[in-house]
Amino acid sequence: MSTLLQPEQRVLSTLEADGSRRWLTPKLSKGRFWQWRRVVAYLLIAIYALAPFVTINGRPAILLDLISRQFTILGVTFLPTDSVLLSLLLVLVAVTIFAATALAGRVWCGWACPQTVYMEFVFRPLERLFTGRTGKGGPPAAVAAWRTIAFYASSLIVCWHLANMFLAYFVGAHRLHAWIWSAAPWEHPGPFAVVLFLTALMMFDFCYWREQLCIIGCPYGRFQSVMLDRNSAIIGYDEARGEPRGKGREREAAGLGDCIDCNQCVVVCPTGIDIRAGLQMECIGCAQCIDACDAVMDKINRPRGLVRYSSQAAMAKEPVRLLRPRVVLYTGLMALLLVAMGVVIVSQRAFDVVPLRGLGLPFTLTATGDVENVIRLRIVNRTDAPATYSLAGVSPATLRITSVQANISAGPRETVMEPVHLVIPQADFGPGVLDVVLRVTNQTADSRDIPFRMLGPTSLKPRLPQ
Ligand code: SF4
Ligand code: SF4
Repeated sequence: MSTLLQPEQRVLSTLEADGSRRWLTPKLSKGRFWQWRRVVAYLLIAIYALAPFVTINGRPAILLDLISRQFTILGVTFLPTDSVLLSLLLVLVAVTIFAATALAGRVWCGWACPQTVYMEFVFRPLERLFTGRTGKGGPPAAVAAWRTIAFYASSLIVCWHLANMFLAYFVGAHRLHAWIWSAAPWEHPGPFAVVLFLTALMMFDFCYWREQLCIIGCPYGRFQSVMLDRNSAIIGYDEARGEPRGKGREREAAGLGDCIDCNQCVVVCPTGIDIRAGLQMECIGCAQCIDACDAVMDKINRPRGLVRYSSQAAMAKEPVRLLRPRVVLYTGLMALLLVAMGVVIVSQRAFDVVPLRGLGLPFTLTATGDVENVIRLRIVNRTDAPATYSLAGVSPATLRITSVQANISAGPRETVMEPVHLVIPQADFGPGVLDVVLRVTNQTADSRDIPFRMLGPTSLKPRLPQ
């Protein structure tokens, strides 16, 4: 075989030299970090499963209702007019992730990411249960066909359930429950197609793609190199203590370090890397290598922590700084965003009004020669009770409102769109435009003044209505 295109070493931990996929079946190390991760993972799975059923103040804990464009998070409903608040919330989440990564490294990936949680604590255990596969560093052993079928069948059930749970976040658990038990799938083809698609996607991810999502698919994983610094918490191998590595009992006499080169930290790694090669993009911070190495250290009567949570600075015996410019910057930004969100929430009113231009002619002239604009008034009732709204002209004094309805009604948290006719004598009009103010008042006498620019004739020979 030609050696021209042979790499000197493995390019990717999951790629064989010939370019084929190197399947990983990591061994499980049930150390103290795994025990804690398992507690966290089951807690998160329980939260994920129960959140759509839980209500806070009579509203769902989480409901992302795309159809009516209302997002309820922890019992607080964000309406379409809350785009500023939602944007601030999203930026806050992003900055919080940046701050957490700068301080604690990939703690999200290893401890809380749904990919890791479900892969390591649901699908991998299922695979081990049915196929008995646990890696020893080589290719996965062949198993009886029924075992493989049992694994895929059980995975399919779990994925189907997860897809339904996911849909519950968007349509509500009770509505989904009613759909499942009292309607045929073809009566709700859209949601049913979403469940089918998500099930297929999860089967692909958890049964085939697996660690590839973390290594090449996740944008957060790609960002790590710029979000971490030498003081960020990482999982690292203490080279000064471990090297030179090697097997043998008379270690001190032979000048060997604490690493016995047993490869246990490698065979447990879900991304197939060797932590002893230093900090790598593929490391998801799952701490399996710590648990594996601690078990080895216990066996050879050496102190634990050859592989441990540390930082690049600490490993290099440099002073560790908790407060760094990026941490201060992120913290300051988070405080600013929280203040901005507080200001937006405090300044919220019982209803929002947005005046929009009509869809027909920009203006018409009435039989008496007045200028008329038909506009659309979008009113958002932000309260949990039905509301009625009345309209009046504020300025100029000659502004008249000739709407079809005297009062506009809106249900709880409902958004209504009403056509409104604004009429004003042509004599009061400037060339082409006139700024007017309308007043919208609800049944509790809470009112809002809404400025609007009316359009009118620019010459003395206006266009007459058809
Ligand atoms: S588990 Fe520990 S002792 Fe074994 S190879 Fe890894 S670092 Fe060395
Ligand atoms: S190197 Fe260690 S912490 Fe990183 S992914 Fe592998 S086992 Fe997990």
